[in-house]
Amino acid sequence: MLERVARVLCCARCGGDLSREFPLQKVGGRLRFADLRCRQCAAGWAIREGVGIFGKPAPEPMDWRSDPGLFARTPDEEYWRTYLAALPPEAERGVEQALSALEGCVRGLSGLLVDFSTCTGHVLRRVTGPGASRELFVGLDPDLPRLYATQAALRKDRCYSRVSLAQVEPRHWPLRDRSAQGVVSFYGPSIVPYARTWMGEVARVLRPGCPFVFSSLLTRERTLTVRQAARLHLEETLTEPRLRQALEHSGLLVDSWEVIAHGSRWPRNPFDPLPLEGDPWSHVLVRARRRRPDGVPEAVQLLEPTTFPSAAG
Ligand SMILES: [Zn+2]
Repeated sequence: MLERVARVLCCARCGGDLSREFPLQKVGGRLRFADLRCRQCAAGWAIREGVGIFGKPAPEPMDWRSDPGLFARTPDEEYWRTYLAALPPEAERGVEQALSALEGCVRGLSGLLVDFSTCTGHVLRRVTGPGASRELFVGLDPDLPRLYATQAALRKDRCYSRVSLAQVEPRHWPLRDRSAQGVVSFYGPSIVPYARTWMGEVARVLRPGCPFVFSSLLTRERTLTVRQAARLHLEETLTEPRLRQALEHSGLLVDSWEVIAHGSRWPRNPFDPLPLEGDPWSHVLVRARRRRPDGVPEAVQLLEPTTFPSAAG
């Protein structure tokens, strides 16, 4: 966890300031080990081996996938290849296109950027190599073992110098209000239960006018997928009207909405719990931005340096 980034951390439960307690270990501008204590509600959080821990030790199975065992058993380097091989060719192209588009968006930004649903680091790997000079990235994901694997892989590929990682519960981010100049998510909205509340967190940490750019996997209304999703609390962003309503509800204005791939029948796929086999699907790439408190749209802020508040403790 880069110390500069640790300064914008707050309590994941109440948003209060954090004090750092011993044992505290710093190496080259990074916090490696620390116990963090909320000054308001006394909740305890931690940094272990450089990764912030702000959630449950393991995600609930349906937070992310139908078979967490399958995911955990797949080695990091094989996971992506195996996943792409399970997709229909149109969806595989859509995923690649989404990655390229997210990469393009991130390259136009600077300051503190949040990558939600970091997983194996698909987005971070693309944007932290040569040419990335000004951004600092916070990768958030609920899966702690996966984050440690991603940390090791990013280090090996020399993509870690501007990255900090933290395990979180999707609807409770340990970041201060208006601390981020951009949030990106590679298919995050497709896998978060109670996604409207989650999107409220996105809006809360964004500075007004700053962008939220994400890809998402959708289906249509009145499908079996939507009925099944409701049982899993995953239905709030699963169709275009629902996703648009969730953004609106969270104070996010849509700037562009692009369908990058679609098909009439989703094939069986052991990695994605939804859509269900046989239902129509589409991949979308959406660029939105946080509305100002008075509701007036604001220009997207580009290339403006982030000012970090002073250390909390
Ligand atoms: Zn607190």
